[in-house]
Amino acid sequence: MDEPNFIPPLQQIIDPFLDEKGICLFMLRTDLNHPEISGNKLYKLKYNLIAAREQKKDTILTFGGAFSNHIAATAAAGKEYGFKTIGIIRGEESSENNPTLSLAKTNGMHLHFVSRELYRDKATLLAYTEATFGKDVYIVPEGGSNTEGVKGCMEITSSISIPFDVICCACGTGATVSGIILSLKEQQKALGFQVLKAENYIRQEVKNWLERFAQQDKNNWQINEEFHFGGYAKTSPELSAFIKAFQKKHQIPLDHVYTAKMMYGIMKLIKSDQFPKNTTIIAVHTGGLQGNKGFDD
Ligand SMILES: *Cc1c(COP(=O)(O)O)cnc(C)c1O
Repeated sequence: MDEPNFIPPLQQIIDPFLDEKGICLFMLRTDLNHPEISGNKLYKLKYNLIAAREQKKDTILTFGGAFSNHIAATAAAGKEYGFKTIGIIRGEESSENNPTLSLAKTNGMHLHFVSRELYRDKATLLAYTEATFGKDVYIVPEGGSNTEGVKGCMEITSSISIPFDVICCACGTGATVSGIILSLKEQQKALGFQVLKAENYIRQEVKNWLERFAQQDKNNWQINEEFHFGGYAKTSPELSAFIKAFQKKHQIPLDHVYTAKMMYGIMKLIKSDQFPKNTTIIAVHTGGLQGNKGFDD
């Protein structure tokens, strides 16, 4: 298998207010790595696909909601790298024709809907999945967040060709920011933006990941919990206006669920002088733009 290896472009954000504050801000456009396997989800899938191939499994089975970026990415990756794919989808079959799931189907994914109650209870869900689809499938957890996923995310920083001080990313499970933390050089810091409302949730998840990699002593990271806008996939007129203005000014589309909340947060923190002068910040554009179709509807 040709391993996915990409060099996402680094795009400088030009704005007089950044000059005033003495901040250099770049976006790492991992959203441009691939038209359908967008952003961090490709990095999270990479070592899962390699492991599936090594274990001689021809089917990838995974889980997600009806608008899941990970479901979209897994379906497209299965098509591109020659795996059958099964998506266990949370909720009713009525969502079958939404943009995310109809594209997943077009890319060959078999969709299997389960109730929210069953989906919530991870142990029962796994037992149900094995009873239904057998044990000969390669299982990737929700969001692609397993050890292989974190390992893949350690490669996000490897293409960055300029020196930087802080790297920012949006956090849903914390696997991506954990991979980034594990890959940083001395003096560099990671700043994660939690997009859901749950105190200390990502902080704890990151601690768990670092421990699994025997790196629990690392203190080069922080999680900001101020910019979740009410919770996962919650938005507001202010956030929508921010997305529109950002697109117009910088020609960079942001998604409502993740990257908009991160960029909004970064701009607010810069405005209130939370970064010292001469800081170079990299904001990772983790993709997720396919999900915007769900918001447009
Ligand atoms: C899934 C996703 C994230 C969150 O990644 P985690 O590893 O779960 O924290 C961030 N941004 C986008 C666009 C995503 O699709």
